[in-house]
Amino acid sequence: MDFAVFAERADEIEATSADLETVTLVRDLLADAADDLDTVARFVQGRVFPAHGSTTLDIGPNLCYEAIARAAGHNVSADDVESRVAAVGDVGDVAAEYDFGGQQGLGAFGDGGGQAGLTVGEVESELRDLAAAAGPGSQDRKLDLLFGLFNRCAPAEARYLARIVLSEMRIGVGEGTVRDAITDAFDVPTVAVERALQVTNDYGLVATVARDDGESGLDDLHLEVGRPVQAMLAQAGTVTDAVEAWASVAVETKYDGARVQVHYDGDEVSLFSRNMEDVTDPLPEVVGFVEENLAVPAILDGEVVAVDDAGDPLPFQEVLRRFRRKHDVAKAREEVEVRLWAFDCLHADGEDLLGTPLVDRHDRLSEILGSGVSALTVTDEPERIADIEADALGAGHEGIMLKDPDSTYSPGRRGKEWLKRKPDVETLDCVVTGAEWGEGRRAEFLGTFELSVRAGPDDLETIGKVATGITDEELAELTDLLEPEIRTEDGKDVDIEPSVVFEVGYEEIQTSPTYSSGYALRFPRYLGVRDDKDPESADTLERVRRLVGGE
Ligand code: ATP
Repeated sequence: MDFAVFAERADEIEATSADLETVTLVRDLLADAADDLDTVARFVQGRVFPAHGSTTLDIGPNLCYEAIARAAGHNVSADDVESRVAAVGDVGDVAAEYDFGGQQGLGAFGDGGGQAGLTVGEVESELRDLAAAAGPGSQDRKLDLLFGLFNRCAPAEARYLARIVLSEMRIGVGEGTVRDAITDAFDVPTVAVERALQVTNDYGLVATVARDDGESGLDDLHLEVGRPVQAMLAQAGTVTDAVEAWASVAVETKYDGARVQVHYDGDEVSLFSRNMEDVTDPLPEVVGFVEENLAVPAILDGEVVAVDDAGDPLPFQEVLRRFRRKHDVAKAREEVEVRLWAFDCLHADGEDLLGTPLVDRHDRLSEILGSGVSALTVTDEPERIADIEADALGAGHEGIMLKDPDSTYSPGRRGKEWLKRKPDVETLDCVVTGAEWGEGRRAEFLGTFELSVRAGPDDLETIGKVATGITDEELAELTDLLEPEIRTEDGKDVDIEPSVVFEVGYEEIQTSPTYSSGYALRFPRYLGVRDDKDPESADTLERVRRLVGGE
């Protein structure tokens, strides 16, 4: 396809604002793309290479302005181009303003200059050469190549060349448009296109296979070890959301690190970040770990966490420093060691598992990875979830993830199947009016504290009990603080003189006959003692009523 034709079509697409018409125009463009379909399916989104590859152009605006200035002639400097872009607001429109060395028009119509017009294929191949330029002098080489391309462009072509190289296509074509256009152009089902895009992440490949081999060709596309897919994402949600949505909840630790997709072909390990960048080189200890512990070729999903000498997690900024580090990796490793926690398995030993339920994928993960598998608990008991959360927080992790045990793995999807437990939306300052002695290892500590709110000057009404979010150390401190205040004891239950105020986080307040206030805190979590408050300044029942909704 002539690049001039591509540019003309792109102009038409830009001129329409109706979604359906956009899909129709992109459909026609793809249908007419012939040998360049692969590239056209990407160019129309302002992409030069497939999203999964590590090839990037690495062209900044300045290099692009310089190339435009050079092609425009002696009177124009890169600064001039830059100020025009600042004034006009679009690099493509500015590129289209210049007269590039008398070649304009040849791309579309020309035979006069003896130089054939640019084709989409040529633009792609020149840009590939440009991306390959590395080492000393590579910026000059990139500039030469880009100048050469602009020099052969008619104004309309220059508009899109500039936009493509700076990934600023701006003609209103998103991934969904291209997906629908492929469906329409080659008469294949949307679900087949969608699945193929999920497993390959490659619009060019999917368009070509849809055209040449139809639905069965698309169905034959599978995950490939070494080719990353988009990570499945999570929404924020509460324990209430989870227990209400699913019969049981798959609960696991939420690690405070950076997402990593592990690819192992039985010989070599590659690691990819959430943006599908190759991060294998900066993380040699993860590579070594995978080589040692992974039994079969596989694609795993997980989190890489920075750890201290004792193996305890460090804040996630530390791990990001390692991701960015391209040089002196050994030195960086001395400063911060990282480790992998794997929580999902997308592919194992030749078998794609995207359509397999979460719990079965996790079982497969446990079979093939000898160590570093994130523990997964399936439960329908909110108390058990609270315990897992307390353990996770106690071990220094960020919190918990709640997942639908039956859910499949949908790359790139941010659905309701994975919930990151929202931090408490509200807190209340409650008076401690009772407690229970613990059991076993905790027998000599008070635990499970009864919480009350103020209903009147001398009137405290109960609203819940809190047992989670408290470390052993804190339990010992709280026992020292509250034991002298015990008024009466009845078995394990103790009645406590109101004197201490706890700050308590919770997910929700419900009406409840269980407590004398008529309300109950759902999933209360101990946050700390309000040393600065006495019971007279604790929260009131009136505030609770207001929070519930102004009864
Ligand atoms: P978002 O993903 O919403 O854009 P974010 O990058 O800040 O925001 P988080 O809010 O931290 O992400 O929550 C999702 C992330 O949590 C995942 O992308 C993953 O990196 C991380 N994570 C940690 N532990 C797990 C786990 N067990 N299961 C899934 N994701 C986990």
